[in-house]
Amino acid sequence: LFITLEGGEGHGKTTQGRLLAERLRGRGYEVVLTREPGGTPGAEALRQLILFNQAPLSVRAQVMAHMAARADHLDNLILPALARGAVVVCDRFHDSTESYQGHGVAGGDEGILDFIQKQRSLLGHEPDVTFLLEVDEAETMRRLRLRAAERAAVRAGMKADRYERCDHDFHQRVEQGFKAIAARDHTRVVRVDATPAPEEVCAVLLGTLQGDGLL
Ligand code: C5P
Ligand code: MG
Repeated sequence: LFITLEGGEGHGKTTQGRLLAERLRGRGYEVVLTREPGGTPGAEALRQLILFNQAPLSVRAQVMAHMAARADHLDNLILPALARGAVVVCDRFHDSTESYQGHGVAGGDEGILDFIQKQRSLLGHEPDVTFLLEVDEAETMRRLRLRAAERAAVRAGMKADRYERCDHDFHQRVEQGFKAIAARDHTRVVRVDATPAPEEVCAVLLGTLQGDGLL
């Protein structure tokens, strides 16, 4: 069972990943909790390059760098885990590439969206289910301010990554991108209101998995 968590920054993907993994382990499943870009030593090295290297990268190069990281992640972690029957919970996957690079960076350019779809089918391996966590803008801003304050307290001067530096319009396009994906791939993507407390949101995820006969 391959589950991905998607949505913008501050929507609770990481929190839900941890909770969901904990609950599923409690029911006796082997769970591999992982994230993108990254998840394996090679892909984490690429993450540093993708997010924190200062040199400009064309959007196609950004897409292919994400795909390279994903290939390593699939080959060295996700596919072996699925093959032995583990549940894989991944914080971001293909849909983030489509939303951030296709809609955010490239502004929904048809050629780039097509390029992303081709790369995607080359790599293969769609998730069985994707939870798109949705939170309104005011609550998102509140969470991001909290997170920024926490980071500042822990490590002053931690740098924002390539995409976190982008403006409000960029993040609006990303949100629209996720909504378009959910409308198109409605059998795979489940939209979830992630405003309630983490435990409540997690109960919705578990309920959906159970209802779909996936657990
Ligand atoms: O979710 P997380 O904070 O780990 O994401 C790291 C950064 O990578 C975020 O700024 C996110 O917006 C960005 N990202 C991206 N394109 C992807 C995946 C992540 O721009 N395909
Ligand atoms: Mg996160």
